[in-house]
Amino acid sequence: MSTKSTKRPVFKCQQCGECCQGIGGILLQPEEMAQITAFLNLDPEDLKARYLVASPLGLQVAAQDGACVFLHNHRCLIHPVKPRICRQWPFLPALLAHPDEFEAAKGACPGLAPAASHQDFLKAASEQI
Ligand code: SF4
Ligand code: SF4
Repeated sequence: MSTKSTKRPVFKCQQCGECCQGIGGILLQPEEMAQITAFLNLDPEDLKARYLVASPLGLQVAAQDGACVFLHNHRCLIHPVKPRICRQWPFLPALLAHPDEFEAAKGACPGLAPAASHQDFLKAASEQI
């Protein structure tokens, strides 16, 4: 008899690009801008002109056609240097602190296992570190 587990991981990105839809709100820190500038081989002014917009809280990633400007063909154009919040997803403080936020996120992200409990999620988050 096989002992191999068939249980789905708590999180496995399906690369659907759904979390990159919307009008943004991703604020960038200076070091993130520097990394993206270097990765895209742009000068900082070009990065700002082509990909960023000003907001009351600072520069943020622009949107294009209702999605993040860096989303192309369901893929992140800057995946190796994507902003911290994108790298953290779904292990964000709000989802870790609030089971109801975690349950709501399951409806938006097919990478989250529907049957996973919040405890499973916390355990998976601790294993990320
Ligand atoms: S919504 Fe979830 S499964 Fe889809 S790309 Fe984003 S993290 Fe991956
Ligand atoms: S930077 Fe990349 S991962 Fe983050 S929202 Fe934009 S396309 Fe998605």
